[in-house]
Amino acid sequence: MLVGIGPGSHDHMTHRARAAIAESDVVVGYVTYIKLVADLLEGKEVIRKGMTEELDRAVHALASAREGKKVALISSGDAGVYGMAGPTYEVLFQAGWTPESDVEVEVVPGASAINACAALVGAPLTHDFCSISLSDLLTPWPVIARRLDAVAAADFVVALYNPKSGRRTQQIVEAQRLFLRHRRPDTPVAVVKSAYRRRERIEFTTLDKMSDCDIGMLTTVLIGNSNTFIRHGLMVTPRGYANKYELHGDGSTREGERPGRSLSTGLLGWMENLKADRAEGESIAELALRHKLPADYIEAVLMTPAEDVAVKEEAASTEESET
Ligand code: SAH
Repeated sequence: MLVGIGPGSHDHMTHRARAAIAESDVVVGYVTYIKLVADLLEGKEVIRKGMTEELDRAVHALASAREGKKVALISSGDAGVYGMAGPTYEVLFQAGWTPESDVEVEVVPGASAINACAALVGAPLTHDFCSISLSDLLTPWPVIARRLDAVAAADFVVALYNPKSGRRTQQIVEAQRLFLRHRRPDTPVAVVKSAYRRRERIEFTTLDKMSDCDIGMLTTVLIGNSNTFIRHGLMVTPRGYANKYELHGDGSTREGERPGRSLSTGLLGWMENLKADRAEGESIAELALRHKLPADYIEAVLMTPAEDVAVKEEAASTEESET
């Protein structure tokens, strides 16, 4: 069993994770995680491994399982998020394992650092987000830098995992440099250290000061998008309701908008406007520039008959309700 034990406190471990550890004969994991579940380990074979012995851990787990033992391989957060689930499946496939064979595999999901840190600082992930690991131990820097550049430009809320370690100190500075090319210097940033652990620490800052903060191995850095704000010590990314509803009035929809329907600037409305602008003489190149979209995409959209989309949206809107 590949068990995600959550950020670190028992209260934030799932029932299934606890049960999986309880029913196992062998528990394998990095020393820190073993310590976090110390009280669940009585009478079990416990294998503590160092940080760089990840593949060893998976190989050992497979060997024990083949002896008929139940093995819990524990990861912090979620075992599939920068965790042991991937390497374990790779080791299994290498050993000729298939889902039908002797050893049964279960991945037990857990709250990842991004969930834990977001909960502690407010509601920063209420709109599109992504995570990027700054660790270049297994990923070339240009790959990481390209992803940073792309998501900075695309205005995602971003969680930076593995932002800094004793030896890796410049990566966060480079991440900041790439982000500042696309985002305002006062973009809100939350630096969360040891979420739900003894040394928990939360610091709010801005993009231009991000790299000056106390950041280490147990820190996750949350960078807001262009709408994210911090108020009363809480970091919040608006979901977009203000685009559609009068938040301070009677909750009615804004002029031109309808409840349960795409925004007037949603796909259908946007297509209509695009066609109108084109008909009025705006060139495809100009439209592409204005909407920051590729010209061939604009061209393809302009060739899609509006009726097709309208009919589909009409049919779907009867099933769809807003959440
Ligand atoms: N599988 C883990 C991630 C492992 S990578 C998960 O799903 O959370 C290790 C990185 O996770 C750390 O460098 C840090 O960026 C982040 N992290 C893990 N636990 C954390 C915690 N309690 N508080 C803040 N960040 C944490």
